[in-house]
Amino acid sequence: MPFDLIIFDCDGVLVDSEVISCRVHAEVLTRHGYPITAEQVFARFLGRSALAANREVEAELGRPLPDDFDAQLKAALFDEFAVSLQAVPHVAEALAAIAAPVCVASSGTPDKIRTSLTLTCLLPRLAPHIFSATQVAHGKPAPDLFLFAAAQMGAAPSRCLVIEDSVPGITAARAAGMTAFGFSGGSHCRDGHTEALIAAGAQASFDDMRQLPEMIRKFVPTPLRAR
Ligand SMILES: [Mg+2]
Repeated sequence: MPFDLIIFDCDGVLVDSEVISCRVHAEVLTRHGYPITAEQVFARFLGRSALAANREVEAELGRPLPDDFDAQLKAALFDEFAVSLQAVPHVAEALAAIAAPVCVASSGTPDKIRTSLTLTCLLPRLAPHIFSATQVAHGKPAPDLFLFAAAQMGAAPSRCLVIEDSVPGITAARAAGMTAFGFSGGSHCRDGHTEALIAAGAQASFDDMRQLPEMIRKFVPTPLRAR
């Protein structure tokens, strides 16, 4: 077994949330006088913090969004999650077949992560080993969150594998000195997604969670180059 810990991203890896998130984000922004499509939200804001997105919109609008904008967005998102959110296909089987310790490391708030995992019945397999970017100084693409998760779980970064669907996530994993597999099976993934993850440093890629347990067992780490 080449790894002591498998770290899963949440959105787009455990739960198929990104299409829903972009649609709801577009609807709420449009309602506040900033007309935008889900596709445009996807291209501009996916994988970035809510704060960065709000700043950019406010700069273009020339006025601040309402104080309760984030609360409105969260309420709309949770309403839609309750109706539509699904686990990534076969991820429960994959988790059941992985013998190594597992944890979650997500840019979402603890509340959003727990809600997502509860709605998709994945929480019992993963709790309490759930880590949020709100617990560290710098979110992805900085390595902080993955290093924090590894430290909390008692694993050396070099013995950790990260499963990620975004370029900032893969970048963060490699900056943390970890192995990264790129997952492109989420319903938000388009042509070129896998190539982008490989270019960001993913050492392997896959688009079906049924492949993952065997990929983990068979992975041969590339020997570190002498410095
Ligand atoms: Mg993700």
